[in-house]
Amino acid sequence: MKLEIQNLSKTYSNGVQALKNVSLTIERGMFGLLGQNGAGKSTLMRTIATLQDPDEGSINFNGIDVLKKPEELRRTLGYLPQEFGVYPNVTAEELLLHIADMKGIANKGERKETVEALLQKVNLYDVRNKKLDGYSGGMKQRFGIAQALLGNPQLIIVDEPTAGLDPMERNRFYNLLSELGEDSVVILSTHIVEDVSTLCTDMAIIGNGEVVLTGKPDEVEEALRNKLYEVPIRKEELVEYQEKYEVISQRFFAGKLMITVLADDMPSEEFDAKAPSLEDAYFKILSES
Ligand code: ADP
Repeated sequence: MKLEIQNLSKTYSNGVQALKNVSLTIERGMFGLLGQNGAGKSTLMRTIATLQDPDEGSINFNGIDVLKKPEELRRTLGYLPQEFGVYPNVTAEELLLHIADMKGIANKGERKETVEALLQKVNLYDVRNKKLDGYSGGMKQRFGIAQALLGNPQLIIVDEPTAGLDPMERNRFYNLLSELGEDSVVILSTHIVEDVSTLCTDMAIIGNGEVVLTGKPDEVEEALRNKLYEVPIRKEELVEYQEKYEVISQRFFAGKLMITVLADDMPSEEFDAKAPSLEDAYFKILSES
């Protein structure tokens, strides 16, 4: 099971080059695509999901030429878009039954059985007869997963899934997502580093339409071992430190500004060594670009 993306490029009619020669090989499991807003993630997700065409390049999933045979991919695709659109005035169960019908589950009894099992899985069974427009953000996201899973897709695309969820809802959603990668290719597009470090076995970072890094989250972190140092400073001192050191990130901590510096050796006595995180690796790449 494999998704192969080769030399994908896309320039919008307003001249924005959203994808520049993007190539990625994505295997079974959970793959994290990390990048800032505007990096090109949604353009890539929509292109893989056959919702828009690239100018150049090719996409192959398990032998399906995706750009030439979009309808073939759609039969095995589950897609949870960033914005799930307007929530209509129908219940979760009604809408899932309707989508199941559209996805080709023709038998009425089978449809009902499939939908009820999915509602159980995403923990919405008890509220299945509630109207969707009354659902919370977390419930809507879980409904989104249920509809994406209809028809047992082998390729699942989830675009910015945890934006706007509170910590409890996010946790529940993580639990659900973590089961998905077992027998399909799942691509999780996000600007939240924690989503990738918590869930993904492989990842890529995309910046300005280009793939700037691929690897396993723990290897990406490990590359920074013994190279990071941190020190709390006053806000006014930041420029001074930036001139002297390679400051890759800064955050407020207990009223002070904690800066992280990249260096081969301890820069000076005031610094403490810092264990690397995926967030550090991400900030390092952003600071370079
Ligand atoms: P991301 O999902 O990483 O936030 P997008 O793929 O949405 O990134 O956007 C990449 C770039 O393409 C941005 O500069 C965005 O403004 C631009 N863009 C996205 N969609 C369109 C469109 N339909 N027309 C013109 N520009 C677009």
